[in-house]
This record gives sequence, structure tokens and C-alpha cells, in this order.
Amino acid sequence: MTHLELDSVTKVFGDPSKDGVVAVNDLDIDVADGEFLVLLGPSGCGKTTTLRMIGGLEDPTEGEVRFDGTVVNEVKARNRDVAMVFQDFALYPHMTVRENLGFGLKREDNGMSNEEIDDRVTEVAEMLEIEELLNNKPAQLSGGQKQRVALGRAIIREPRLFLFDEPLANLDAKLRKTMRTEIDELQSEVGITSAYVTHNQEEAMTIADKIAILNDGQLQQLGTPDQVFNEPANLFVAQFVGSPDMNLFDATLDDDGDAYRVDMDMLSFEIPKTLVETEITTENVLVGFRPQDLYQSRRRVTDGPEFDTTVRVVEPVGTEAIVHTTSFLGDVTAKVGNFHDIDAKDELSLTIAPEHVYLFDAETEE
Ligand code: ADP
Ligand code: MG
Repeated sequence: MTHLELDSVTKVFGDPSKDGVVAVNDLDIDVADGEFLVLLGPSGCGKTTTLRMIGGLEDPTEGEVRFDGTVVNEVKARNRDVAMVFQDFALYPHMTVRENLGFGLKREDNGMSNEEIDDRVTEVAEMLEIEELLNNKPAQLSGGQKQRVALGRAIIREPRLFLFDEPLANLDAKLRKTMRTEIDELQSEVGITSAYVTHNQEEAMTIADKIAILNDGQLQQLGTPDQVFNEPANLFVAQFVGSPDMNLFDATLDDDGDAYRVDMDMLSFEIPKTLVETEITTENVLVGFRPQDLYQSRRRVTDGPEFDTTVRVVEPVGTEAIVHTTSFLGDVTAKVGNFHDIDAKDELSLTIAPEHVYLFDAETEE
């Protein structure tokens, strides 16, 4: 049970006054007791470094890491009572699953008898449905089974924090989905505060209570999956979250009092200011709309702006299809239902749902 805080945490590798690498820059993150935080961002943005500073494997250059209000900067990793799970599982190859699971409990001075440790191992093995594997060695296990054992080793001690660094990266796509649901379930069951690193936005969106999106060592947004998707703080977040990618085009903006008038060449429309998160004062903007927020004009009567496209490719995904088109705007991607009568080279009129249009200042990208 731990309230985790990072307060203005910076990590510079090398000499800060010379050519040091700023891996993490002035990071503020607050994770409530029992919450599941996901650190999300592209490769090299500082996720692992952040996690290692929480775990005590890396010292912050500046700032504070706090557990329940107590600064732990000086506390060694082994005394922080955190459990870490990595993508390479890190099991002991010469030990059985039973020994791998019990090792952490045997090593520490917790006053547990061998029977008590054995009972706890069995309990955790049942929870993860690996009872049948207890006498096997890691070499006899599949990737998914190994990762279950690695998880078991983490939860057996009921630590203050779980730290996961891309734990599913080495598993195939199907197993990755099953395991992420299991991690999610397990974490809510045991209620231990967790920080989970991934570069996969879909994984982040499904598993997180709260997402910290990083780019180039800097926090872009800290919010719920719903907030980062629906109210992206800037262009980076808007482009990183959601699939397929958001459609983005240059436009000019006029302030019409209660509404913004958006001009995109041959398409011009108004958006009530009440629908726009931030006040925009510049003329040059980027207009964004997600593929999900485009409709086939002939199937839906709304007062949203309409434009003509030519279909390039139709990619069915279950009951919907991703339709790649070209238009006067450039390439536009739509995600629509009722796609069976749409073919390549067809003319297709699309309508933008005006309540789901995003506007960003072209200069600041915010
Ligand atoms: P991520 O996990 O998001 O891919 P990392 O935290 O591993 O990113 O790395 C962030 C930045 O810090 C990268 O530019 C990386 O090269 C650099 N970095 C990470 N660890 C070290 C290290 N031990 N020494 C020097 N630079 C490092
Ligand atoms: Mg990493």
C-alpha cells in the first residue's frame, strides 16, 4: 500500500555540465495508493530510467522520489520493498518453478518457516494456474508460462510496489493480450500500486488507471486513458494515442465570437467554442479528426462538414473497416461500419463529427 510520488525528477547520464544525456527532465508524477500507472512513450523517451529511479536502481540527478511521503532517494533498491518484472523474465535456470517462486521468501529474514513458504508458493501457483509446473525447470516452460512464474515471484512477497518494464514484449500477440488482462486482474485483486512501462499505446489504454505520456524525457500528459484520448494535451499525445492515426491538416482559424471558423481550402466550417478545450489565439492551426469520427455522409444525416473522397483501399477489421481515401485535403483515413458496398476507386462522401474535431496551434503544437 503505497502512494508514489516523483517530484521534479531529472536524470542526466554523464557530466551534466558537458555533454550529458538528459534521459528524464523535471518529471512530476503522482500515483495514488493501489493505482495502476502506465509510463508510455516511444523508444528512448526515458521510461526505463524513470522506472529504475522508482526501484532504486538509478539515482536521480535532481528531484525526489517519495513513498507515502517519505523521500527514498537514499534508500537502496533491496530495502525499498519493490518487486520488478522485466521482459526477459530473469528466472534462475537451475531452479525449479517452486524454488524460483520461494527463493525471495527464503532469502529474506521474514521469520517464515519452510512449511509456510511452501504454502505461500502453492497459493500463488494456484492463483496463476501454474500448480502443475512447480517441479519443472524454466527450460521446460513456454514463454507465457515463464512470464507467469516471473509474475508469481513478484507477487509472492506482497511488496509495496510492482514495477513492470515491458513484461509482455517477448510474447506473441495473442498471449500478450491474455497476459495483460491477467496482470490487470491480478493487480486489482492484490491492490498493490504499480508502474508499468510500455511503448504500446493499445496495451497502455487497456491496462492503465492513469497514463504518463513521455517524449524526449519530458512529461506530455498525465491522465486517465479517457483523458489522453479525448482531451490530448498536445499534438504529440494526439498522434501517439489512438489507432488508426488521427487525420491532421493545416487550416486557418477565425474567431467568430461564440465559434471558431475553420478554413481548410475547399472546406470551411464552424466549431462552437464550447467544444474546444483550449483557447486558441493564433491563425495557423492544425485540425485533427480521428478515423472513428468520420461518417459516410449518405448513411448519417448530421450538420457536420462534408467532403468528397476517392477510396484507395478497404481494410475490414471485424464489423468495421478502415477505409483509406484521397481527397483535396490529402490522404484521409476513416473507420466505418456498413462497408460491404465500398470498393477501391469508389467516390465516397465523408462527414466529420464536429464535436470531435481537435485544434492545435501550428506553432506550439498545443
Ligand atoms: P526507454 O525505456 O523509454 O526506451 P531509456 O530510459 O532506456 O528509454 O533511455 C532514455 C535515454 O537515456 C536514452 O537516450 C538512452 O540512450 C539514455 N540512457 C539510458 N540509460 C543510459 C546509461 N546507463 N548511460 C547513458 N545513457 C543512457
Ligand atoms: Mg526501456
